[in-house]
Amino acid sequence: NLSVDAYRRQHEITISEKNAPPPFMSFPSTGFPAEILREVQKAGFTAPTPIQAQSWPLAMRNRDIVAIAKTGSGKTLGYILPGFMHIKRFSNNPQKGPTVLILSPTRELATQIQDEAEKFGNSSRILSTCLYGGAPKGPQIRDIQNGVDIVVATPGRLNDILEMGKISFCQVSYLVLDEADRMLDMGFEPQIRKIVKEIPARRQTLMFTATWPKEVRKIASDLLSNPVQVNIGNSDE
Ligand code: ADP
Ligand code: MG
Repeated sequence: NLSVDAYRRQHEITISEKNAPPPFMSFPSTGFPAEILREVQKAGFTAPTPIQAQSWPLAMRNRDIVAIAKTGSGKTLGYILPGFMHIKRFSNNPQKGPTVLILSPTRELATQIQDEAEKFGNSSRILSTCLYGGAPKGPQIRDIQNGVDIVVATPGRLNDILEMGKISFCQVSYLVLDEADRMLDMGFEPQIRKIVKEIPARRQTLMFTATWPKEVRKIASDLLSNPVQVNIGNSDE
């Protein structure tokens, strides 16, 4: 398909698989529900960014994904909006624990991600909370107990709450490792591995990263299952 090839060339999209689904070059072509399309329109976005366009059809086919694209390229919605679709399809009882778990390196980034989850997910009645260090655990644990679909967390605090037995991962089936390179740089690998050990193997795992050094490749090969890799630009490899 010429227009697909032209789009990928224009936006420097490379994919590790020949028969990958075509990118969603417009918002209507995503098939997202009306309440999500309305939020996107309210935000003033005219078209998906390249990483969104190519990650969404893969994520919606339940593929494990490694997405490599530089900062500012729209990676957050790249995993959040398919996460909403996943919640709608595999809707569980949020009281028993989250369906979507997003790991992020810092409190600031985790908060930004949860803000996006709220902004775009409120009208879909998606509930989320954010867990990070340097703040009391009590209110965070109460939020979990009240029931949420999405938990955004830094690995350190989440591992603490896990060891206290205050969160269950039995319903997690969509796991995101955001800024994987930075999480490893910050020394979070042991906590990440402890957390992922408690998540059911029957899950979809998505890794978003700005760079693709060998430490990140190693953890990807350990934690993801037959992932498809999407690169934007020459961001490593
Ligand atoms: P990254 O995680 O790749 O660094 P972000 O997800 O933080 O990037 O997005 C960067 C900015 O782009 C944010 O302000 C976000 O709201 C905006 N953005 C996301 N998707 C789109 C889009 N499709 N069109 C225009 N702006 C977008
Ligand atoms: Mg980001």
